[in-house]
Amino acid sequence: MRPELSEYTPIYSGKVRELYEIDDEHLLLVASDRISAYDYILDTPIPDKGRVLTAMSVFFFDALGVPNHLAGPADDPRIPESVLGRALVTRRLEMVPVECVARGYLTGSGLKEYRAGGEVCGVPLPDGLVDGSRIDPPIFTPATKAAVGDHDENVSFERVAEDVGIELATRLRDLTLDVYTRGADIARERGIILADTKFEFGHSSDGDLLLADEVLTPDSSRYWDGALYEPGKTLPSFDKQIVRDWLTKESGWSTSSDTPPPALPAEVVERTRARYIEAYERISGLRFADWPGGAA
Ligand code: ATP
Ligand code: MG
Repeated sequence: MRPELSEYTPIYSGKVRELYEIDDEHLLLVASDRISAYDYILDTPIPDKGRVLTAMSVFFFDALGVPNHLAGPADDPRIPESVLGRALVTRRLEMVPVECVARGYLTGSGLKEYRAGGEVCGVPLPDGLVDGSRIDPPIFTPATKAAVGDHDENVSFERVAEDVGIELATRLRDLTLDVYTRGADIARERGIILADTKFEFGHSSDGDLLLADEVLTPDSSRYWDGALYEPGKTLPSFDKQIVRDWLTKESGWSTSSDTPPPALPAEVVERTRARYIEAYERISGLRFADWPGGAA
């Protein structure tokens, strides 16, 4: 018999995920089907999004072979039936307060900084780069976690070193760039570009530094369809473009209005759901039908 979710103490509720305490040493990390767009959490969930992102995280934790926080398989008996497939048992870590971002392509907030001063998080870049330009070798562009509702703030490596010490800062940078590079290589083989991504690390009670949180999911990463890649053009997000296009081109809602976006039509929900599954299956080479949970 699996436990009920109500038997665990909720300890944190993020925008799309929830954390529960299993015991002193273990947490249950639950991914919901909620989706965000233009800084709003939409009213309409995308069925199976939480399972797909959990499956992707597990695929990459396995593929990367870096010490990580997973403390059991996806069908671990400590996982309640109601969240099976979208929850993971992890070790409870002391999180390092740094959002460890790697960028292999210039876009988003990185592009904004580059245009303002020719560098990103203190890393100087060559002249003449455009939206989508490849950054090779990739760069470490850390950020500090913002309070709920705020955007993370990009900071320099030196600032991270001041906060956590030069030794840990250096390990974070090396691990981040190494894991990004391996993730990007895996995606590239499947025709998908991993433009940038964010990792979080934490310390175990024995003092080991472990890769934590979610890894290389579409929520923590920017994925592009390699077939559409063209530097100089803002590339559509592999997973969210269907939703964004509908919101901005068809729904009548505007990003500059101060009302929340409208509910998504069933057809947009279904295409987005298929898109997430496609991303997982293409990148992992695995079948989503084999992933636990799902029989509602
Ligand atoms: P968002 O990522 O949407 O900006 P958020 O970070 O507030 O929002 P989530 O990412 O949904 O919310 O929450 C996950 C939380 O769990 C994060 O605070 C993350 O640092 C924390 N976390 C992840 N893995 C572990 C772990 N092994 N031990 C302790 N905390 C963890
Ligand atoms: Mg987070």
